[in-house]
This record gives sequence, structure tokens and C-alpha cells, in this order.
Amino acid sequence: MSARDGREEIIRSGVPVSSGIGIGRAYLVGRQAGKIPRHHVEADEVDAEIARLHRAIHASDRQLEKIKQQLAEESESETDFHIVTAHQLMLHDEHLVDATIRYVRDELINTEWALRKAVDDIRAVFEAIEDEYFRERASDVDHVADRVMAALLGRDEDEFDPPPDAIVVADDLSPADAARLHRAAVAGLVTDAGGKTSHTAIVARAHEIPAVVGLEDITEVIESDDLLIVDGSSGVVIVNPSASTVVEYRDAQRRQAARGAVLMSNRDLPSQTRDGVEVHLFANIDGPDEIAGALEHGARGVGLTRSEYLFMTSDRLPDEAAHFEMARSVIAQMTGMPATLRTFDLGADKLAGFLEEARLDEPNPALGLRSVRLCLHDLGLPLFRTQLRGLLRASALGPMRIMFPMISGVAELRAARGLLEEIKAELRAEQLPFDEHVAVGIMIEMPSSAITADLLARECDFFSIGTNDLIQYTMAVDRVNEYVSYLYEPLHPALLRLIHGVSRAARDAGIPAAVCGEMAGDPLVAPVLAGMGIHELSMSAVSIPEVKSVLRATTMSDLERLVAKVLTLATAAEVRQEVADYLDELGIQRGGSR
Ligand code: PEP
Ligand code: MG
Repeated sequence: MSARDGREEIIRSGVPVSSGIGIGRAYLVGRQAGKIPRHHVEADEVDAEIARLHRAIHASDRQLEKIKQQLAEESESETDFHIVTAHQLMLHDEHLVDATIRYVRDELINTEWALRKAVDDIRAVFEAIEDEYFRERASDVDHVADRVMAALLGRDEDEFDPPPDAIVVADDLSPADAARLHRAAVAGLVTDAGGKTSHTAIVARAHEIPAVVGLEDITEVIESDDLLIVDGSSGVVIVNPSASTVVEYRDAQRRQAARGAVLMSNRDLPSQTRDGVEVHLFANIDGPDEIAGALEHGARGVGLTRSEYLFMTSDRLPDEAAHFEMARSVIAQMTGMPATLRTFDLGADKLAGFLEEARLDEPNPALGLRSVRLCLHDLGLPLFRTQLRGLLRASALGPMRIMFPMISGVAELRAARGLLEEIKAELRAEQLPFDEHVAVGIMIEMPSSAITADLLARECDFFSIGTNDLIQYTMAVDRVNEYVSYLYEPLHPALLRLIHGVSRAARDAGIPAAVCGEMAGDPLVAPVLAGMGIHELSMSAVSIPEVKSVLRATTMSDLERLVAKVLTLATAAEVRQEVADYLDELGIQRGGSR
């Protein structure tokens, strides 16, 4: 069907990660932000092309100088300053400048094309180097060349400022850009990379931005300003839709909005099954500014605060006061409801400046120095101690729970708890108030801790099962890898057995077990978790109304029977069908997969 500007309507399918329909113009971010124009020039245009190159280099130089000034004023890190200085030197390097000019002159091609060829040559040289450190410096060349390219194309490389109602299109978003998404109030997000629980997906969900990820090469298909439809429930992305397609999706958008309003009306109703069993529905948040939204959606507690966002959204390392203030604000806004603060979970795909500077060069970062391992390592230990001081001091102000992520077994739990006790002793000596009985829990996110849950349950106050990572480590499927996202299956029998085992171990030890991974917010999965005895589900707040309406339509005795049945099934597809049949029988309508 032909559409605007005579371009064909293109339909692509990816991984749906945040429901809702977004309609808007494409705003491309990153290297794909503008396709590089390639054309031949006349001999008498060569000088003008070369002058454009010099102007672009000059403009880039000025931008880098400005960044250096900001760094000198704001940052404690000298490394960043030196990296920018090195980039300035590279800007004027003959291998880049002279080679680009030579291509323009010899091959009569435009500057952008010539620059791309010169950079490709330099890359090839870097890639042949054996030393990994030097090989990786090729990315510095890319950064410099991207900046010059942006200047040539009249774009601002440092700008991430999508207009409202834009659909952001990117290979993947940096954590900083992802964190800025919500402020921009964009209409949708589509990315080449990513899976259901990549952090970009989680941020999109938290801010109700319809999003489809894992589209592999969508940035090659979409051009700036193309009209796009993103259906975050089905995973469909339509590029240059025809007028009739737009009308069809606008109708669906209106129907969804009406349904959302009905669901929101259950905000003040109790979250319990028809036979009166309460299932607490809590919110996962990245910071205190998300609490108002969480309460609006009916959250009755915070089950997970991803405190690492304090590190990821600022160049400065958070000090004790920053940790205290974050926890204080969460506790104050929750007015007596549970407030769970997770200690920082950095590493793998969640990077902070100090980690990048450390250049750990890990071949498998998801299996490396991340999370509590980093906290117990020299590199993260001082930061961890500072955080524990801030959190403990805030514990004097109201009910708070401290949660350690990625605990692999009892030894690690004891090490983390030992540190906490040391900090408590410090505070006592300084006569600073804190809650002596602050609850200390752990996330169960890997098979080793799920299998030893009975041992762990004796030494902590609660469990929260982090299924995003538990699926990754059980199924050996990278949570951000689009090629294997089909294997990322929360209802796989292996997962269900692990979760069931953890729930029983917690029950036997008399401690609560929650789930705070994204599967807790899936209306088809939440009833299974509840039936397994998980009576606290923590999720992106936007999922709460729908999960609550599903739970309110069921009975716990039915759910327990359903669980007994699904635990005998052999595949995720069979489990999914069984649960879907049960919900259909009850006449429960569900929105998208999210
Ligand atoms: C999880 O792994 O399920 C979890 C909640 O933690 P995160 O997504 O922050 O890794
Ligand atoms: Mg995790």
C-alpha cells in the first residue's frame, strides 16, 4: 500500500516490551541518526568540500573544548578530561584529515563519504592490532568521526532532545539517554537491540512509553521524520503507514485508553483473591521521583528501588548524603508502607563512570564483577560502605528494608551482612540513629541461590526473586541479546521449579518471598506466582491495575490447583496454554503481553 511521499508501508515485528500504541515521527539517535549522504562532486567543487571539512573539524574542536570546561568545573575525574583532550588531538590527526581530503580529491566524492572511507581504513589498522587495549581504541576514532560527521550534517552530537510525540529510534539507548526518555514525553521507542528485561525496556515500561525492541536492523529501515506506528503489545512496528492503517490504530489507541481508565478505577480496591487471600502489589522504581506515579497506580509498597540509578545519572559519585536523601525521600513518600532499597547493582549492562574508567576489560561482564561482587571488591567496597551508612541512617525514619542483589550463596550473604554490622557499629559509636532491626533481605537471581534457598532463608529476613536475571542465568540467555530472546521464557518448567522451591524454602523458614522481576507484572504469569505462595509481587507500577484485576477474579484454591497442574507440564507453551485456558474460562480479558 502506498503511503506518504510515495514510500511503501513497511511492517516489522520485534519483541514487545511496553504496551500501548504510539504514533509519531521518527527521531533517530546515535550513529544511525542520519544516513550518510554519498555522491560524486565536480572537480570545481572539491575546494568547497574541503572547506566544509575544516569548518566541521573546527566546530567539533569547539564542542570538545566546551565539554572539557564542564568537566574541569564538575567532575572529580581527570581521566575524562584527558580522554577529551586525546579526542581533540585525533581531530587534527593527518590519518584522518589528510586521508579524507585525498579521497575527496582523488575519487571526487563528497566529504561525508570520504570521511567514512578514511575512518574505515583507520579501523582496519586498529582491528589488526593484537593488543586488545589498542584494538579497542578504534571506538575512540568512531566517536571523533561521529562528531565531525554530525557537524557536517548540521546535527548536534551531544543533544538528546526528542520533541514530544516523537518515536525514538536507536540501535540501543545508553542508560543516560534511557533515563532521560521520560522527561521528553515521547510517544514510543523502537530499538535494534534488546530483550524483554533489558534496562531500556524496563525504563520504557515504567514510563508507559510503548516500545518494541530486538528489531535487529530497524535503524537501517527508518529515516528521520518517517511516520511510525509502534504497537508495544503485539511487537509490530509500521513504517510509513497508509492513511487507513493510521485510522485503524488511532481507534485501537482510543479503545486502549478507555480500558486503561477502567482498570485504573480499581486503584483503591484491595488486592485479594475472591476467597480473601491478599497478594501485595508493590512497585519497582529507579528513584523517588517515580513514587507519585506508583501510588497513582495503586502500589502499596516499594518492592525494589534500583539505587544504582544514582550512579548512572550523574558524573559524580553519590556520597552518604545522596544515599540518605534518596532513602529518606522514598520512606517519606511511602508514609508507613514498606520501602525496599536495593544496594547498588552495577556492572554488566548497567555502567557508571567509575566502572568505565576502571577498564575492567571483562570478556563476560554478565558473569563478572557485577552487583554485590563489585560491592565486596576493592573497586566498589568504599562506595558500598558509603551507601550502607546512608541507608542505615535513613532507616531511623520509617519502615525500610535493605536488599542485597545477586547473592550467590551463604558465604556472600555473610560477607555483606558482616559489612552491614560493621557500619552499624560505626554509627553506634558516632551515636547516629538507625533502626537496629532493619529488615535485611536478598535477591534470588541465580540457580545457586535458588537451589540453596533453605540455607539462605536461615540467615536473612526476606527473599525477592529477581526473575530477569534468574531466567538469564538458568536458560543461559543474555537478557539483552535480540538473537536469543525467543529463549527468554518465564514459564519454562525449569524456572517454575526453581521459583516453587524458593517459595517453599521461604515458607518453611517463616520468611516472606516476593518476585520483583518483570514476570511479576505479566497478567498471565502473576496468577501462577500467587498460586505458588508468592504473596508479594513487585513490578513496574503501570502493570499493577491489570494484575490486580486478574487476581481479584480468581480464588487462591483455584490458583493452587492450577499450579499443581502446570508443574507437571513439559514445555512453556503447554504451561502458557493451561493458564490462558483457565483465565479464559473465568472470562478474564487481558491486554497485551505487558
Ligand atoms: C531482576 O533481575 O529480576 C531484577 C529485578 O533486577 P534487575 O532487573 O535490576 O537486574
Ligand atoms: Mg537483577
